[in-house]
Amino acid sequence: MNYIKDYIPKSKDKRPGTKIEPQWITIHNTANSTSTARNERNYLTNPLNTNYASWHIVVDEKEAIEAIPLDEVAYHAGNSTGNSTSIGIEVCESGNQTIVWQNAVSLVAKMLQERGWEIERVRTHYSWSGKNCPRLILPRWNEFISDIQKELLKLNGVKEPEKVLDEASEWAKTAQSWVKENGVSDGTNPKGNVTREQMWQMIYDYDRKVKK
Ligand SMILES: [Zn+2]
Repeated sequence: MNYIKDYIPKSKDKRPGTKIEPQWITIHNTANSTSTARNERNYLTNPLNTNYASWHIVVDEKEAIEAIPLDEVAYHAGNSTGNSTSIGIEVCESGNQTIVWQNAVSLVAKMLQERGWEIERVRTHYSWSGKNCPRLILPRWNEFISDIQKELLKLNGVKEPEKVLDEASEWAKTAQSWVKENGVSDGTNPKGNVTREQMWQMIYDYDRKVKK
């Protein structure tokens, strides 16, 4: 995925230039099923667009565009706390949504890693001001967060923790009880000698029993 910096000029309604020290990443959806990242970026500098509304980064299926430096305020969260403490990321609703999702996940994971931030830093527009945003991602928010977490672990070089089994698997327990029931072993002398022939006979018998 390409990452492009294409800053909009300073303006009172989009980029006032106020410096911030962001503590959060706020996720949005564009609420427009056809616009690409390029379309969204162009809309910010469309002279007819005089809304007090902007964002830092937009991502679609092929690229991410940074429109406002990440240490400056943007108007995206619906309240001043959100605007002055978070980086706003718009996730496009156009294009292949599986790829867009993956691009957004990679982007956010990389940003967390670069800042040494944990997954808790990622939040929704909804969490600031109650708007139904990011509308496509909200219903799958836990999945989104978990995907970012996995990507972050990878970037940090941490292998996914292996599942620790504190119990034998079902087949082993069944085999063990079968061995006891059939007097092959009473389970108290596991180091007793068994010939290879006996061992293969046990495996053979057990296999036949299971398939019956
Ligand atoms: Zn939003």
